[in-house]
Amino acid sequence: MSRALTNALSEGAVQAEDSSVLFYDLSLIAERTKELAEQFPKDTLHAVAVKANPLRKVLAWLHALGEQDNAPQLGLESASEPEMHLALGAGFDPSHVVFDSPAKTLHELRFAITQGVHLNMDNMQEVERVDTILKDLGHEAKSTFGIRVNPQVGQGSIGATSVAAEYSKFGVPLKTFRKKLLEIYRSHPWMTGIHVHVGSQGCPLDQLVLGVRSILDFVEEVNAATDGQIRIFDLGGGLPADYGQKEFQAPSFTEYVAALRTGCPELFSGKFRLMTEFGRAVHANAGFAASRVEYIKPQGDIRTAVIHLGADMFLRKCYNPGDWHHEFSVCDKNGALKDGPTRLYRIAGPLCFAGDLPGRDIALPEIEPGDWILIHDTGAYTLSMWSRYNSRAIPSVLGYKDEQASTGFVSLKRREQPQDVLSFWE
Ligand SMILES: *Cc1c(COP(=O)(O)O)cnc(C)c1O
Repeated sequence: MSRALTNALSEGAVQAEDSSVLFYDLSLIAERTKELAEQFPKDTLHAVAVKANPLRKVLAWLHALGEQDNAPQLGLESASEPEMHLALGAGFDPSHVVFDSPAKTLHELRFAITQGVHLNMDNMQEVERVDTILKDLGHEAKSTFGIRVNPQVGQGSIGATSVAAEYSKFGVPLKTFRKKLLEIYRSHPWMTGIHVHVGSQGCPLDQLVLGVRSILDFVEEVNAATDGQIRIFDLGGGLPADYGQKEFQAPSFTEYVAALRTGCPELFSGKFRLMTEFGRAVHANAGFAASRVEYIKPQGDIRTAVIHLGADMFLRKCYNPGDWHHEFSVCDKNGALKDGPTRLYRIAGPLCFAGDLPGRDIALPEIEPGDWILIHDTGAYTLSMWSRYNSRAIPSVLGYKDEQASTGFVSLKRREQPQDVLSFWE
């Protein structure tokens, strides 16, 4: 990270006006998708979650990776109509785009079905809506369809990202509606898929596997009653990412798939077309943020380093510091990593509210104004959750493809100008 910053500074890719810069290691994204794809059968569609990182050039990069010789089947999972446009606009064939959302309008459903994307319905009312649309279209749709089923396997350690507890706002709860769901499959032969997504950061491997297992048992039941109607199994995303915490080491794709092969061998029998929807585990480690220290404020034992990123980019971390973690480092004004004796710092963002502290009591080497604070593992669910509160401009975003970060940087998004922020509020 320090090397990337140093090179970007000396190449002029980072300028004096850049109070923060976001970096993405595109080669790491490529490596992660490769590692993911190698674990699954070749015809598996890996639809990477757009919401983790919606930068258009990153989506185009994922598309390019899927076009190489011998490449895995890559696609995108979209959670809104604009995300569907992002996915299609990145060049993906509609059959490689998955549309999930718990609140799809009739208009959005029609759009998705006329495009031919794979659509996961959220509830039984949506099934009736889709049925009507299909009748209108004379059943000529290219889309394939699944329904999201909540396996009700319990909550992970982070409530807000757990979606398979007894109650969830997502999907049809399996325990309550098992019979009804079976009937729905029988009466809607165009429903050839099923969808489960247990949750995200904070869900242990056993729970992810148990979620898939519970749905698989139900699939066997449906398939026995319908002569094998369900042929598409979308197992969602949810593999946690490693944020460098000593107390938690995230499992790898390899470990997850090994556990799936043991717990859910039928998945790999060739009976199903598999789909995955990983976001965090693909993207999180591929990004970092660098922000210039504007001031150091001493107060008793507390030293506060004021930087230019806070709850605008680190919403979850600032509002829910116990659940989320990022490691920090310090570089000097030229990007060289600082070391030496440490003391405790509070890292304060630029926003006007007291909770705007992306880092609390972090041991770091002596920090001076003009230094850079590096915030690690910001590749997923950070820029994509950008908040307009206080109307700060989104920083410049740079990508590099060579893991040494020794060659040219590509601009993934230019620094917002005041006018961009004004336009937002128009
Ligand atoms: C957010 C989401 C994903 C991606 O989750 P990760 O934890 O980032 O892997 C996949 N599928 C659905 C339906 C989601 O809502």
